[in-house]
Amino acid sequence: MSSFVPGRFAADDVYNHLNFGLVMLDKDFNILLWNDWMVRHSHVPAEGALNANFIALFNQQLAPGFLRALSNTVSYGLPAVLSSALHRSPLPLYHVYLPNDGEAPARMVQSVVMTPILAADGSRSCLIQISDSSNSVKREKILLSHSEALKRQVVTDGLTGVNNRRFFDENYTLALQQARRNRSNLSLFMIDIDFFKQYNDHYGHIAGDRVLKRVAETLRNQLASPTDVFARYGGEEFIMLLGGMEHDAARDFAEQLRDSVRALDEPHDKSLVNRCMTISVGVCTRAPEGEADGRNLLATADAALYRAKLGGRNKVVATE
Ligand code: GH3
Ligand code: MG
Ligand code: MG
Repeated sequence: MSSFVPGRFAADDVYNHLNFGLVMLDKDFNILLWNDWMVRHSHVPAEGALNANFIALFNQQLAPGFLRALSNTVSYGLPAVLSSALHRSPLPLYHVYLPNDGEAPARMVQSVVMTPILAADGSRSCLIQISDSSNSVKREKILLSHSEALKRQVVTDGLTGVNNRRFFDENYTLALQQARRNRSNLSLFMIDIDFFKQYNDHYGHIAGDRVLKRVAETLRNQLASPTDVFARYGGEEFIMLLGGMEHDAARDFAEQLRDSVRALDEPHDKSLVNRCMTISVGVCTRAPEGEADGRNLLATADAALYRAKLGGRNKVVATE
């Protein structure tokens, strides 16, 4: 049964109102159908296209992948889909509005579907549908950049912009595995701002936030490599993980961290150890061996920090 009511409309009207390119080629690639969409986007009028040889018409301008698919469709009756991801612009088709300022027009991003059709004489012709994928490619790009931004947000602390605890936890597991494999040292630094509650109480929460940001930025700037792990661990506490350091070097680095914050010279009238903002640091350096060493390393660095606090604050305590 026919798929349309005969005599009520012209097939040409249908072809020419389609919002995609429709081309029919015979077995020798001669053009049997060339709809208006093709005229608009190839700048080849129907008179120039019909009965012309498609390959000769676009001499050298067709992508090799397109030619291979076309020959498979006609020779073996294999349908083909050329997605814009792999074959961006196989045909010399352009948007109707050319760029101003003399820029060379760029080819339209295309999706192509080829379908073999058996002709009455038993030969195989090929129906080609071409659609403009520019918008979906643009949309994909936007979605991709949104999803990358979201991924970054998930591991970033909203206030300070440095990495958050989730980031630390993910990287800590990896760093432990790597250090165990290489039998190399890991140094874990627990860093805590001194008398920060008093700071907030005296200067207000907004001033507290500003100082937290400054301290976070200063600590981050001490890192030698962007792959070193640093994060806000919670409240006014930060954590750092560095590999391949000896015990003494780790202690020296902890002193450098302490100096860097003191050098900010951020006034703190309510601190009982100094006239300006300071931090205490507990650091533990060792080559992790067993599964439980991850927790032990954290607990030992935390205990070292506790001792630095007990010892008067504005101090480094280093352990192994
Ligand atoms: P210590 O020297 O023993 O570390 O004393 P501390 O006052 O720094 O420690 P404590 O744990 O008693 O208080 C931490 C304070 O940090 C309390 C809390 O209000 C403040 N704080 C935690 N997170 C934030 C934040 O995001 N913004 C601000 N402004 N303050 C915060
Ligand atoms: Mg504190
Ligand atoms: Mg604390």
